[in-house]
Amino acid sequence: MAEHESLEFGKADFVLLDNVSMEEFMANLKLRFEKGRIYTYIGEVVVSVNPYRAMNIYGRDVIEQYKGRELYERPPHLFAIADAAYKAMKRRNKDTCIVISGESGAGKTEASKYIMQYIAAITNPNQRAEVERVKNMLLKSNCVLEAFGNAKTNRNDNSSRFGKYMDINFDFKGDPIGGHINNYLLEKVCIALFSSCINDGADFKAVADAMKVIGFTGDEIQTVYKILATILHLGNLTFGVDGDVTLIENTKLVSVLRELLSTKEENVEKALLYRTVATGRDVIEKQHTTQEANYGRDALAKAMYERLFCWIVSRINDVIEVRNYDAKIHGKNTVIGVLDIYGFEIFQNNSFEQFCINYCNEKLQQLFIQLVLKQEQEEYQREGIPWKHIDYFNNQIIVDLVEQQHKGIFAVLDEACMNVGKVTDEVFLQGLNTKLAKHAHYTSRKLSPTDKSLEFDRDFRIRHYAGDVVYSVVGFIDKNKDTLFQDFKRLLYNSSNPVLKAMWPEGKLRITEVTKRPLTAATLFKNSMISLVENLASKEPYYVRCVKPNDVKSPLLFEHERCRHQVEYLGLLENVRVRRAGFANRQTYPRFLQRYKMISEFTWPNHDLPSDKEAVKRLLQGCGFDHDVAYGKTKVFIRTPRTLFSLEEQRAEMV
Ligand code: ADP
Ligand code: MG
Repeated sequence: MAEHESLEFGKADFVLLDNVSMEEFMANLKLRFEKGRIYTYIGEVVVSVNPYRAMNIYGRDVIEQYKGRELYERPPHLFAIADAAYKAMKRRNKDTCIVISGESGAGKTEASKYIMQYIAAITNPNQRAEVERVKNMLLKSNCVLEAFGNAKTNRNDNSSRFGKYMDINFDFKGDPIGGHINNYLLEKVCIALFSSCINDGADFKAVADAMKVIGFTGDEIQTVYKILATILHLGNLTFGVDGDVTLIENTKLVSVLRELLSTKEENVEKALLYRTVATGRDVIEKQHTTQEANYGRDALAKAMYERLFCWIVSRINDVIEVRNYDAKIHGKNTVIGVLDIYGFEIFQNNSFEQFCINYCNEKLQQLFIQLVLKQEQEEYQREGIPWKHIDYFNNQIIVDLVEQQHKGIFAVLDEACMNVGKVTDEVFLQGLNTKLAKHAHYTSRKLSPTDKSLEFDRDFRIRHYAGDVVYSVVGFIDKNKDTLFQDFKRLLYNSSNPVLKAMWPEGKLRITEVTKRPLTAATLFKNSMISLVENLASKEPYYVRCVKPNDVKSPLLFEHERCRHQVEYLGLLENVRVRRAGFANRQTYPRFLQRYKMISEFTWPNHDLPSDKEAVKRLLQGCGFDHDVAYGKTKVFIRTPRTLFSLEEQRAEMV
């Protein structure tokens, strides 16, 4: 029996479950994890459970087994998805994308690396030097981004605190010729933890080496060191008061910062203790309270880190972008996009970051629904197959709840930030309560006073597609405004280090010239999500859903409740339902015959029926699968993967 059909290892595709229930889903997931089968399909979606141990399934030999094969021909694997995306791109000239989601530590980044490795391994058979260079750059750039975008959190030693989207460009031969990276919302609050990461000298050397290979200059790498050191020192800087004067307690640090930033000592001190404000026509220097000074210091550290990260991404993009003039002008240039993005998050305390992440997942879910259903519907129409309504929850209402103009949550937040007079988290919450009181997916402590899950006055709750999440409004305003005093920007712009100076061009402006209100974090994030989704929507999508089996990095422990939560938040049951409602597979009649004609006396070695369509009908009737298929104009549609697996088995017995 083919391995992927053997019940000993559970069902290779969740679509094959007898009943689509949480119990059956979990039992199958657990069984497969315990048997070392970390991948399982939902149709063309791969569900992956982090094994927390080295698996012997990524070698050259395994790559060979997946190369050019169809999805259902081999046991579920990331390589099969990578191959499907690559084949669609190469054979059908389609841009494709692979969306990898899951919570922190679930294995997203590892998965994206294996996918890249697979693509690198199966391309460039002629060993063209330029293509080898590009492949090397793409793999190296991953290492650099990981080093800077990661934080050692208690959930994951090497957790990416950002969403990353990487396009790989291919030429008409199907060889990689360049790429481009976009990053999304680096979670800046993590820099405190991040300092545990970069203290490790040996690690940093490896990163510096990778940076050299990519083409960062010595000065640039030095500046990166200096910025990281600055961020660490800022973390140790404390303020005190003497009478009504705010002062820096550890003044020695000021000299250190001056050295690192190549600025004058008094400038550093001044920027930390004062801010320049324009009042009418006058420009005055206003002293910070200690609270403001603390806020300013933290904002500086966060902003420097974020700016550094974006700068690194843009430098990498300079190097990996498609250069070859011929490739740009002639021949087709197709793309595989790989999105490595945090899945739905729910913590004990959920704040602005979780809200953004969960909104992102609502957008991706909406895209998933639209693409799967739209594609299916269009193809059924083309092929003349009656469309059966698929019953699913359309989450557009929640997407609107967040992003709608004027009354969406982001709009209410932005409005609260622009309030004249009091700008507090409570004002924001009042705005929500006024505008959304009747919304079916919103409630708050004020609106539902007896609800036990809303413990605190400042809590509100969103009914997401994947479940309820309680958010606290505390910090929303500050995080959304994300203000960095202009004085800091000027400080950095006036540095005599040209690399640092170039990162802060807006520091050139005097306070009276700063007129435009910077876009808020929510608006920036919303815009970047809308363009991300537009981009993905133009491509043929493939999905990898990662599950983290436990919090202690154990290869043995499958924590049932924890996993059940993730299955719920990833919307996997919904996923199975949508897949089951449609057809698992479709193939043109000639292609189907080419693969399976040996299993029927009517079709082997050749058939004498009036058409290939008739021949396929005869074959499937003969095997007793007629009830599970529909015959379109040019293609046969197979409803369940089980039928396909059986056909594969019968074929394997014959050849
Ligand atoms: P995420 O990007 O989702 O936060 P990572 O991909 O960084 O998570 O995975 C976290 C850790 O889990 C890795 O550092 C690695 O130790 C382990 N891991 C993840 N996927 C695999 C895998 N396929 N095989 C072995 N270990 C894995
Ligand atoms: Mg990651």
